[in-house]
Amino acid sequence: MDQSETQILNRDATGLARAVSFLKHGRLVAFATETVYGLGADARSDEAVAGIFTAKKRPGFNPLIVHVPDADAAQAHVIWNDTAEKLAAAFWPGPLTLVLPLRPGHTIAPLVTAGLDTLAVRAPAHPGAQNLLRAFGGPLAAPSANPSGRISPTSAAHVLEGLGGQIAGILDDGDCAVGLESTIVGLTGDWPVLLRPGGVTSEAIEAVLGAALKHRSKGATLNAPGQMLSHYAPRSALRLNAVSTHPGEVMLGFGAQTGDLNLSDSSDLSEAAANLFAHLRQLDTLGQPIAVAPIPDHGLGRAINDRLQRAAAPRN
Ligand code: AMP
Ligand code: MG
Repeated sequence: MDQSETQILNRDATGLARAVSFLKHGRLVAFATETVYGLGADARSDEAVAGIFTAKKRPGFNPLIVHVPDADAAQAHVIWNDTAEKLAAAFWPGPLTLVLPLRPGHTIAPLVTAGLDTLAVRAPAHPGAQNLLRAFGGPLAAPSANPSGRISPTSAAHVLEGLGGQIAGILDDGDCAVGLESTIVGLTGDWPVLLRPGGVTSEAIEAVLGAALKHRSKGATLNAPGQMLSHYAPRSALRLNAVSTHPGEVMLGFGAQTGDLNLSDSSDLSEAAANLFAHLRQLDTLGQPIAVAPIPDHGLGRAINDRLQRAAAPRN
């Protein structure tokens, strides 16, 4: 795509309809939230979500935050609880993200959660984001709309500068008010844990909870997204760069090197990224060691290899 192929869309009915149409076709649209501009994709489509990683040139896959209009919409995807109810009642819509267990039968694409059984959800307060979510009528996965490693964008011009030519559209909604990412609270254990400080202060959250938040242990690297991926690894052992199977192994193929499943028959790295977590899960159900074909180490292949190396690392 050439730079000029990214359409700057106005926040009127025409711009909104265009944005929704792009998203329904699996394409990427940046939109304003009260924190920073997000790079939105249909969270139910692995192919669409793979596009986020391609556009951002992320060196690894980290779980993405899914945006919904309100708590009712969130409950279609996650198992809700009393603490979630309290925090959502106090801070949604707003810059607070809640991590909750995925609900059985949910429709979220595995690439969104990087294969985890939990989902980060948030209802943004920005009226433009609300309009887009309601018009689209589905969940949007949306990390910050900047190339990996660069500063988060708080205007449409920032987005264009970083991702022009990489994405279908930018809904121009002026400058973001908070300019700071959302606070992330984990609600999957016995007690709420502050996973990332952000737009809602921990004091405000603690006042609503009537108790202190747990903090991640000092050694944990919060700001290195992807570190937490060591939580999810297949149960079966993984052997990488395999050119053939050993007895008892199943094979995850790539391109001409076929297997029990193939990440991409046509050696398309974006398709391979889209299939990665779903295929690993499927092979893992067979309970046999998994041999994985070599994946070229460029473009999205680097993110795929990063994830595979984590999954193959010795377990503790
Ligand atoms: P960003 O969308 O760029 O603001 O980053 C999303 C943040 O949410 C990253 O730090 C992720 O690691 C974190 N996150 C997303 N999903 C989960 C999850 N299921 N469990 C824990 N952290 C998550
Ligand atoms: Mg970011």
